[in-house]
Parts: sequence; structure tokens; C-alpha cells
Amino acid sequence: MATKPRLPRGRQFFANPGPTNIPDSVLHAVAHVTVDFNDPAFMPVYEACVAGLKRVLKTEQEIFMYTGSGHAAWEASLVNLFSPGDKVAIIETGYFSLSWAQMAKDLSLEVETIAADWRRGLDFAALRAALAADTTHSIKAICAVHNETATGMELPLKQVRAVMDEVGHPALLLSDTISSLGSLEFRMDDWGIDVAVGGSQKGLMLPTGMSFTGVSAKALAAHKTSRLPKSYLSWTNMLTRKHKSFVGTVPTSLFYGLQESLRLLEEEGLDEVCARHSRLAEAVRRCVRHWSGNAGPQLFCTNPDRYSDSVTAVMMPEGHDAEAVRRTALQSFNVSLGGGLGPLGGKVFRIGHLGDLNEPMILGTLSVVEMALKLNGVPHAPGGVAAAMEYLAEAARS
Ligand code: PLP
Repeated sequence: MATKPRLPRGRQFFANPGPTNIPDSVLHAVAHVTVDFNDPAFMPVYEACVAGLKRVLKTEQEIFMYTGSGHAAWEASLVNLFSPGDKVAIIETGYFSLSWAQMAKDLSLEVETIAADWRRGLDFAALRAALAADTTHSIKAICAVHNETATGMELPLKQVRAVMDEVGHPALLLSDTISSLGSLEFRMDDWGIDVAVGGSQKGLMLPTGMSFTGVSAKALAAHKTSRLPKSYLSWTNMLTRKHKSFVGTVPTSLFYGLQESLRLLEEEGLDEVCARHSRLAEAVRRCVRHWSGNAGPQLFCTNPDRYSDSVTAVMMPEGHDAEAVRRTALQSFNVSLGGGLGPLGGKVFRIGHLGDLNEPMILGTLSVVEMALKLNGVPHAPGGVAAAMEYLAEAARS
């Protein structure tokens, strides 16, 4: 143990890449008295939230919502579209794309993996080759994780769609937007996304527990012939309900919260929200790049074109444990960082910089990480936080 644990005091700096900080006004909105979800007084709130979510997804198509975390929306996207034995292709960019692939296998789908280097991201030639080789169009869908939360890497979905169109492949394009929506640019209709999977607890700054799918007309048509078993998550069943979602009780508190979080996002403006994420992310990267001197920790993502603006994974020098750094940050300084997932366990820690976040929160987090590196004897070049400050100060001028 490098340090003595302390009782947590002050507000915890939550630098996990999801769930994320919940703004005070959203917390207050969620603390709403119980209402009957069929009460006419609730319907305008519900309808405003659906309309607002469509504006954030940038879609004019259908939305279905679920009481469940992102996994529920993943499952809904698969059971509503496919039949046993159907083939889907997953672009393997990291832990979350692998998990979605595993779910597809569990649901009796055949999965083709389009492998990608976890540190550099997809080589579009591999996608083009896989689609061109599928002359019988047996691949029914491409599943793409827009932002790999495990590695801190963005997948340019517009380019995925461009390659599909170039090859003339009719597969559906399914996109996980769980750690990108409300943080990175996302345009469901313009980018030809057929199903966009999202969750409440990241860029939307809400408690965990609600997820949703934007669904294109083409996907709704595919749904009509799908034979995988479904009931609670069935879009057909949902369309018969008054809310056109939620086979069971509607989580009304989350809707009061969503109404407020949409208000916050739109008050700031979605472009400005993305610009803020980009600025804070760049400050984190400058800091980590500075630390990487003296054989220190490195950015896990080595492809600058694909850096994620919502999460940065930091790779430890050989022989040093990322979990020790996380423990010190939490137990001594009340800062919660994300850990490495799957094969990256112990090798990376992750700094989440999405949601309700500003410069002092990022600088506070980076300062604690720098202290935790020092306390754990991890080699690094001190002064990373100063590099981040310099960048943020300069950015404040423009
Ligand atoms: N997809 C991505 C990219 C994620 O980051 C996560 C969770 O962090 C999930 C899927 C799973 O979502 P949930 O934990 O809400 O079920």
C-alpha cells in the first residue's frame, strides 16, 4: 500500500467513463413524486423527451425505449431484427464490441468478426474485403461500436456507411452510441444508421436504468420477418402500447430527469457540447503525452485520427499495475477512475471525460493521477497537469 486510505470528504471527482456525473438540476428533476404513467399530465413530458431524444440522435425515425441498461438495448437490437442462424458481422475494436458479439452468439446468431487493431482501430480495407467477399449477402448486419469505451477509440461511422454503399452491400448498419451520444458528433439519419443503441448514464447525464434504440424504416421492415423469441423487448408489442415503448411500467422519474438533461444539452447547444468534450479530451491527452516521458504511461490509442473525446485509456509501463494507481486515487483522494476491461485489466486505467464536466474537474482529476503515479513509484515525466493547464488556458482565449 503506497498510501494511507482516508475517509472520503468533499464531492467525489467521478472520472469513470460511465456512469457519469449527474448535474444537480437533473438529480432534483429525477426526485419527482410518483405519477401515473398513463396520466394525461405525464404525456407531454413523455412526448417532449421522445422528441428531444430524436433531436440528439438526429433522426426523424422511430425510437423504442427500455427499462434496462445498454445491454437491454443491445439485446433488443438483435432479437427484433434477426432469426436463428442469421449472420451478423461485428467490427472488433475492443471489449464492448466483443461483448455484443458474444450476446449475438448466445442468441443463436452466426457472428463474423472483422478484426481491428485495438490500438489503431479498423483498417477500412478489411471491412471492404469482408463485404466484397460476401457475394450472396449472407451478412444481415454490420454491428459497430461508435466509441470503444474500453480503449478510448472512435470508429468513424460515416466511413463505415460509405464503404457499405461503395461495395453495394445491403446489410443493416447497427451502431452502439452508448458512450458517444451527447458527447461526440452523431447523426443517425445522415450517416445511414439503421439502429442506434443508446443508454441513459453517459452523455445524457442520467442515472443508469433506461436505454433506447433509434430504428430506421429499413430496420422496421426487417423486424417484420424476424423470428428470434422476444416479448418484453418486442417492437411489435411496444407499438401497440400507448407510449409506443415500454411493455411494462414506464420509469417516470427518469423522464423528468431526461427532460432536464435535454434542456441542459440544448441550452449549451449540441455543437458546443461536442466542442467542450473535444477540448477536455485534448487536455487529458496532452497531459498523458507529457507523462510518457521518462518511460512513463502512454496513450493506449496510437491513432490520432481515432482518439475518443469521451474517454482516454492510459497504458501503464511494463511491470506497473494500473489497479494500484486507481486504488490510490480513490482511497487517498476520492477520485474514481475507470479500470482496464478484459485483457486490458491491470494494464490500463481509463479517464472518463464525458457528461457534466468542466476544466477544474479535469485538472483536479489529472492532478490526482499525477500524485498517484508518484506515490506508486510509476516512472513518468512530472508536469503533465501543467501541460493540460497551458492548453486549456490557451483554448479559453479563443
Ligand atoms: N457499449 C458500450 C460502448 C459501453 O461503454 C457500455 C458500458 O459501459 C455498454 C455497451 C454496456 O452498457 P450497460 O453497461 O449500460 O449495459
